[in-house]
Amino acid sequence: MKIILITGASRGIGRDIAINLASEGNKVIVNYLKSEEQAKSIENENIEIYKADVSKRMEVSEMVNYIIKKYGKIDVLINNAGIDEYKLFTDITDEDWNKMMNTNLYSTFCVSQEVVKNMIHEKYGCIINISSIWGIVGASCEVHYSVSKAGIIGLTKSLAKELGPSNIRVNSIAPGCIDTDMNKNLTTEEIKGIEDETPLGKIGKPLDITRCVKWLIEDEFTTGQIISPNGGWVII
Ligand code: NAP
Repeated sequence: MKIILITGASRGIGRDIAINLASEGNKVIVNYLKSEEQAKSIENENIEIYKADVSKRMEVSEMVNYIIKKYGKIDVLINNAGIDEYKLFTDITDEDWNKMMNTNLYSTFCVSQEVVKNMIHEKYGCIINISSIWGIVGASCEVHYSVSKAGIIGLTKSLAKELGPSNIRVNSIAPGCIDTDMNKNLTTEEIKGIEDETPLGKIGKPLDITRCVKWLIEDEFTTGQIISPNGGWVII
C-alpha cells in the first residue's frame, strides 16, 4: 500500500490513474481545482480529494503538509495537472505565457520541491511528471504549451541525477494524443487524420497512460527517462 498524490486528477488521465491505483489498495490523494463535482464522484475509502491550485506555492505547501501530517509520507507523486491552449505564436500574450508556465512547469517544480523534503527523509520516492509528445518534438500554434512540457523533461532528467542517491526515481511520461477533454476541440476529421498517421491506427485512452504509470511505480531501476506512449505517431 502506497501513499500517492496525483495533481489535477478530477478529470481525464489523472482521474483514470487515481481510480486504478486506489482499486489496488493504495491511498490516493486526488488534487483538483475547479471540477469539484467530478472529484467528489470518485471519493471513496481509498481516495481523498483535496482542492488546491498547484500553481500557487502557499496552496501547494498547505496540501503537502496536510498529507504528511495525516499519512506520514508520500511514496509516489504524479505531477499531472495541466492546461493547453491553441494560439498563433504572435497572439500569445504575457498573461497566456505566464499562466501556461505556472500551471504546467512551475507546479511541477513547486509540488516536487515540497514533497521531496519528505521523500529524502524516507529514503524512498517515485516521481512521475506528465509531459507531452509536444515537449519532445514541438507543436505549431502551441509554442507556450510545448515549452512548458519541454521544461518538464529538463526538470525530470536533472532531478533524477540529483535525487538518485536518495533512492528517489524521477521519470516522465510524454503521451501522444489521448482521448480526454483536452482534445475535445478536435473535430472527428482531425482525430481521423491523427489515427491515419499513427502506426497502431488509433489515439490513446487514459488507461494507456495508467498502465505506464503502474510500471514506473513498480520498476526499481529506471530513472531520468522519458517514455512516450503514442501509438508510434512519433518514433525517435
Ligand atoms: P484534462 O482532462 O483537461 O484534465 C486536466 C486536469 O488538470 C483537470 O483535472 C484539472 O482540474 C487539472 N488542473 C488544471 N489546472 C490546475 C491547477 N492550477 N491546479 C490543480 N489542478 C489543475 O487533461 P488531460 O488530458 O487529462 O491531461 C492531463 C495531463 O496530460 C496534462 O498535463 C496534459 O498536458 C498531459 N497530456 C495530455 C495529452 C492528451 O492528449 N490528452 C497529451 C499529452 C499530454 P480541474 O478541472 O479540477 O480544475
